[in-house]
Amino acid sequence: MNILKIDHLGIAVNSIEEGKNFWTDVLGLKFEGSETVDAQKVTTAFFPVGESEVELLESTSPDGPVAKFIEKKGQGIQHVAFRVDNIESALEELKEKGIRLIDEKPRLGAGGAKIAFLHPKATQGVLVELCERSS
Ligand code: ZN
Repeated sequence: MNILKIDHLGIAVNSIEEGKNFWTDVLGLKFEGSETVDAQKVTTAFFPVGESEVELLESTSPDGPVAKFIEKKGQGIQHVAFRVDNIESALEELKEKGIRLIDEKPRLGAGGAKIAFLHPKATQGVLVELCERSS
């Protein structure tokens, strides 16, 4: 598997509208717009930081994964995403190594990326996302 960089940090927030001023006005990051991913019941907002991004995550439904995360742990870092050059082969390699996966096959994430999550039980509690982007 070839990990290219940290693609983004996913941060769970109650409200992007209320939370985004810190990232823009205080830290001076640029707000690149938001996007709702219905399949994951989440709206995401991106703030590029050099080669990586901060991704704010707001649940669109009380039973979505981000809502459940906030219920259990409160707002904060929800996942770390690594950019890979070939997500299918990365998942194959992890399966061969016996790593427990949430997604055996990639699915479509925000920005048209192919994404897949590893199970936190396999990663000392960190929700790890792999993502592959064509750009
Ligand atoms: Zn993500």
